[in-house]
Amino acid sequence: MRTRPTLHWTPPPDLPPGTTDLRPVVDALSAGGVLVLTGAGISTESGIPAYRGEGGSLTRHTPMTYQDFTAGPQARRRYWARSHLGWRTFGRARPNAGHRAVATFARHGLLSGVITQNVDGLHQAGGAEGVVELHGSLARVRCLACGALTSRRDLAVRLEEANAAFAPVAAGINPDGDADLSDEQVADFRVLPCVDCGGVLKPDVVFFGETVPAARIEHCRQLVRTARSVLVLGSSLTVMSGLRFVRQAAQADKQVLIVNRDPTRGDQLAHTRVSLPLGPALSAVADALNLPADGQMTPWPGT
Ligand SMILES: [Zn+2]
Repeated sequence: MRTRPTLHWTPPPDLPPGTTDLRPVVDALSAGGVLVLTGAGISTESGIPAYRGEGGSLTRHTPMTYQDFTAGPQARRRYWARSHLGWRTFGRARPNAGHRAVATFARHGLLSGVITQNVDGLHQAGGAEGVVELHGSLARVRCLACGALTSRRDLAVRLEEANAAFAPVAAGINPDGDADLSDEQVADFRVLPCVDCGGVLKPDVVFFGETVPAARIEHCRQLVRTARSVLVLGSSLTVMSGLRFVRQAAQADKQVLIVNRDPTRGDQLAHTRVSLPLGPALSAVADALNLPADGQMTPWPGT
């Protein structure tokens, strides 16, 4: 169950401090079998803000919950208007050095898997394959009535046509693709139904308050079981959704390493937490491993 986010998690005073020493990360990757778990922090350098930490969107924005979304047409209009505007920012976002480094590690056989909590598709755009999208992807849309899975890009075109005059200025953009707009700004937005059955469309992402599909969680648990170590990149691990895999790894005496600027809920389970920006840090790790940071660029499905 992905519960409502803890908006104001305060690190306890006995957390071990972060370091700037990347050697444990280099050593773990050298040994291979690393399961990478990433969060919003890896995409901030692509212009997508994080939920938490300095400037984090949760200080001014509560993500849409499944309960809100399914409660009625008004909430859905608000969601789709804001999301449609946010899509323009997501469509422009490009993978950064961090995403490319992860793809490079994978291509050289150092990783046993990649799990991301992000819905932005930037790992795949950076060249990574077989990425498990724990919370789904903004690139797809699901019909809640008939289950049809369609492209968000196609829906964006339809929404653009149906809302030609819609051009508000957003106060900000959030990591779930939701732009900050007032109720007045979204009042005239036209929401579109499923082209097949007329049903309600929902982005194929796991909202807060919604359950991650059991098969997906079990797949991730299996990835933890077969991994030698777990490397967390850019996640505060505030929500159980990601933290549970770190706990599973620690319980199995697997090494847990974290690269995240701020303290995380997993720090006490970790061998080390490196407090550095991810792009430069992972590029340095790739250098130390004598790997070219040449993650192959592919167009993001949203563009
Ligand atoms: Zn349908």
